[in-house]
Amino acid sequence: MQTKFIFVTGGVMSGLGKGVTTSSIAKLLQLADQKVSCVKIDPYLNYDAGTMNPVAHGEVFVTEDGGECDMDIGNYERFLNQNILKSHNITTAQVYSSVIEAERKGEYLGACVQIIPHVTDEIKNRIRKIAEDEKLDFLIVECGGTVGDIESLPFLEALRQMRVEEGPQGVIFVHVTLAPSLDVVGEQKTKPTQHSVQELRRIGIQPDFLAVRCTLPLEEKTKQKIAMFTNVTPKDVLSCHDAKSIFQVPQMLYDQGIMDSIFTKFGKVGMVNTSTKWDQWNKIAENMVNHEDQKINIAMVGKYVTLADSYVSVNHALRHAGAKTGKSIDIDWIDSESITDYSVLSKYDGILVPGGFGTRGSEGIIQTANFAREKNIPYLGICFGFQLAAVAFGRYVLKLEDANSTEIKSDAMNPIVDLLPEQKDISDMGGSLRLGANEIFLKDNTNARKIYHRSVISKRHRHRYEINKKYIPEFEKNGLIFSAESDNGKRMEILEIPSHKFYLGVQFHPEFNSRPGFPEEVFEAFVKASTEK
Ligand code: GLN
Repeated sequence: MQTKFIFVTGGVMSGLGKGVTTSSIAKLLQLADQKVSCVKIDPYLNYDAGTMNPVAHGEVFVTEDGGECDMDIGNYERFLNQNILKSHNITTAQVYSSVIEAERKGEYLGACVQIIPHVTDEIKNRIRKIAEDEKLDFLIVECGGTVGDIESLPFLEALRQMRVEEGPQGVIFVHVTLAPSLDVVGEQKTKPTQHSVQELRRIGIQPDFLAVRCTLPLEEKTKQKIAMFTNVTPKDVLSCHDAKSIFQVPQMLYDQGIMDSIFTKFGKVGMVNTSTKWDQWNKIAENMVNHEDQKINIAMVGKYVTLADSYVSVNHALRHAGAKTGKSIDIDWIDSESITDYSVLSKYDGILVPGGFGTRGSEGIIQTANFAREKNIPYLGICFGFQLAAVAFGRYVLKLEDANSTEIKSDAMNPIVDLLPEQKDISDMGGSLRLGANEIFLKDNTNARKIYHRSVISKRHRHRYEINKKYIPEFEKNGLIFSAESDNGKRMEILEIPSHKFYLGVQFHPEFNSRPGFPEEVFEAFVKASTEK
């Protein structure tokens, strides 16, 4: 069995939804009973997304095996309902590190080490290794950036070489572009697409498909014109017009015949579509948009709220839970640094504090956690939101002087949250947190246990600090219990206040396990509690 490759490139500008196109094609192939996965190439020089600012680049998505990845990996996982390993996020830094390491070991036997062939070989090896290790029918590779960028050249060159090596029935290219119209009734312009395909052809890549972003469906004459200038068959110029939800994009592409074209190009004719799977997916996709009449309002109070993408998995997880509960979720992002009047939080059905790092904005989170507790408003704290809920309880219920996390105040008199012992000697910032999935043990007769219906769960982590065990007896005496732990009782994983309507904090990141149609249990419980009057 030979894996077929689909390479997705981007033209004109960023933000056109290359990730959604990639995920949608993968979803269609999965619905046609093919074993598929996706890869994201990020041509930047960071080794991984771990050290990148979420406000500028969007969320850092954590994989089961502890990769700190680009948020597109999260899109793939959600669309495919399948876990993806960190090897699927390839960066320039990883490629060059491997090449330089091999050179230092003398593995190139005296050769002059160059971008072609050494760097391009390393890129191709990484892609092929994933295909082989996972025995895939199809691997969809999304190349980040826009054609014409200096950074992505070695990657595009590697993809071009793969087309030659695998043959036209082994590799196809999909190029994502834009057909802007200058006003609502205006003509759809084709020039940006023409130019960006020219740029692609200049480096030796002829696209097989164009996925053209536009507001209204691409007109027939626009398709014809684009086709003529780009050497792509008109039926393979696909309209990717605005949709109510990203989950409608697979159907949109399917209706334009993309699957027949893909299978024909790969010489695989007569592929079947298993309709039961389609029905299941369509039900999920429909359910994700159909609850406009029943809204609940959630306040998300955090540090990186100026960019919605910085908590993209949390937003999705809330919506998955909403769809299952029959509610649409309105999220207001509130900056924990600028909030001063906490009474504005009273109007919300629930308050969620997501992850975060560092001092700035932390006081606002502590006050928010305290406000939710005092006013009996459903509260879900994730990671930082869990740690600082414990700090708030230490300060305002246990009345511990100068209670804090040592991340915020290193010499706090009462360090409720402290550095993980194994972190004490670490100085590197990249890849050094407690990362990835770990087993968590839930205690009997707790809300946590009720929510998960089982005693052991596995969840993903990304943190450097943890609850200081010294304070646990006092917490538990005063009504806050730790209902889950990990690493033989060394670390606290869930806190809850049983007398509260819903007050739960989790050290792990449940958002990374939530999928459309299958919301993560804690989110479902939180949304349910937020709907109860
Ligand atoms: N800053 C905290 C820690 O390092 C929380 C991390 C997070 O919220 N992801 O432990």
